[in-house]
Amino acid sequence: MTSALVTLRDRTEILVDGAWRRPVGGGVTEVEDPATGTVVGTSADAGPEDVDAAVAAARRAFAGWSVTPLEQRLHVLRGWLDRLEARHDLLVDTIVSEVGAPVALARDAHVGMALDVLRAYLDEARAVHWQERIGSSLVFREAAGVAACITPWNWPLYQVLAKIGGALVAGSTVVLKPAELTPLSAYLLADAALEAGLPDGVLNLVPGSGRVVGEAMVTHPDVDVVSFTGSTGVGVRISQLAAPDVKRVCLELGGKSASIVLPDADLDRAVPASVQGAMLNSGQTCSAWSRLLVPHSLVPEVLERAAAEAGRMTVGDPRRDDTELGPVASATQRATVTGFVERAVAAGARVVAGGVDQPRDGGYFVAPTVVTDVGRDAEIVREEVFGPVVTVQGYIDEVEAVALANDSSYGLHGAVWSGDQERALAVARRLRTGQVDLNGAAFNPAAPFGGYGRSGNGRELGRYGIEEFLETKSVQL
Ligand code: NAP
Ligand code: MG
Repeated sequence: MTSALVTLRDRTEILVDGAWRRPVGGGVTEVEDPATGTVVGTSADAGPEDVDAAVAAARRAFAGWSVTPLEQRLHVLRGWLDRLEARHDLLVDTIVSEVGAPVALARDAHVGMALDVLRAYLDEARAVHWQERIGSSLVFREAAGVAACITPWNWPLYQVLAKIGGALVAGSTVVLKPAELTPLSAYLLADAALEAGLPDGVLNLVPGSGRVVGEAMVTHPDVDVVSFTGSTGVGVRISQLAAPDVKRVCLELGGKSASIVLPDADLDRAVPASVQGAMLNSGQTCSAWSRLLVPHSLVPEVLERAAAEAGRMTVGDPRRDDTELGPVASATQRATVTGFVERAVAAGARVVAGGVDQPRDGGYFVAPTVVTDVGRDAEIVREEVFGPVVTVQGYIDEVEAVALANDSSYGLHGAVWSGDQERALAVARRLRTGQVDLNGAAFNPAAPFGGYGRSGNGRELGRYGIEEFLETKSVQL
């Protein structure tokens, strides 16, 4: 990293009980722009005492927020959404700087989709069965308590809103730790919440490292729910750390999702869209379709089309409107991604587009890469690469396509392409994953999102996402 530039993003404080203050240890971290390697801002680096203060504030605030009538909570949260919308351009600019996301993607997906998710939470609040009668019982859904929310760097705004949107609608209160790499957008969320009059202590922001701040949150005895998005390894550790207090743990983890192109699919749509799905956000997307499965007979044609699509994509300066792929998030991430490709090639795989050569100087760029001649046990087929890399594998028939898709310890997402919607749906029903898109269908911000297997155990978004932060009480009459 070069030395700090003058910036408008020099944040050094944490938000506790409705007030900004320096962390007890005074820690500050620099935030790097992965497209240039320069420092674009700072963030507080909090410690365990700060977590104690934030959890205490969230506990105090819970007494009021949890019993505030839903309509009143929604009124405050709508004000929050309005103030986020008013910060749209600043949010886009911040995401471009901290993630390296191209400006068009930052606008449409990082910010646009994130605000759609919050809007959907507000719309779906009434769909929750807050009270129902089951025989001789009244069953109530009540706020679960203090939620510790820990999020990753790949879609920072979206990941945070996917959690705290549900928590706040539910009446739970929040202690949030964003990823150290991308904390700046979380500050903007907190600014907007304060401006909207969210009561003190309902949302507390304690940026810092996972090891220190994250673990202090997860092990804190006064936290009721831990909601985590990130890698499977950290998710396992968090589950173990949370177990002694029997905290509820909601995990949104990695993926190795397959896009299945059936023989009757429209290749003109299916192949470019599958490649784009794999490369989205430079492949740093938990739901990326990183495995493309096609009938054996179509492999040569699909490889040609996939290589053409990858080669066509503009990799470059995220601040240009026509850029499709920015850098990956860090030098470490770049080394991880190219390491996967190097080992695959050493094991006999063939690269038909992209590869390990850096396509552009300055930041952590990786060329969109298409790899084939890989077996079902190849590392690059089994492990999450989290970069712009897709593997292409052939299958004999539909049964084998489903078997290959399901031959993964993950189970987050998937795609099915077919000229026959009924056939595509039948295949989707056989996939062991939490989401499947048929023929390039659009993202639905109100539909449950989450994983089977090692992709996690919770669901976010819409009614399901609110329910993660609710308890259930039966009263017999
Ligand atoms: P990560 O290393 O697991 O980190 C995620 C978050 O957890 C960060 O805020 C991190 O803090 C924190 N953390 C790290 N170690 C911790 C610990 N011991 N205790 C508590 N918190 C800890 O993941 P990442 O590298 O940031 O993100 C990439 C991964 O996230 C990929 O595997 C991806 O598939 C997954 N992901 C899943 C979804 C989904 O919805 N299923 C969505 C996006 C990403 P630091 O600030 O120190 O890093
Ligand atoms: Mg990490």
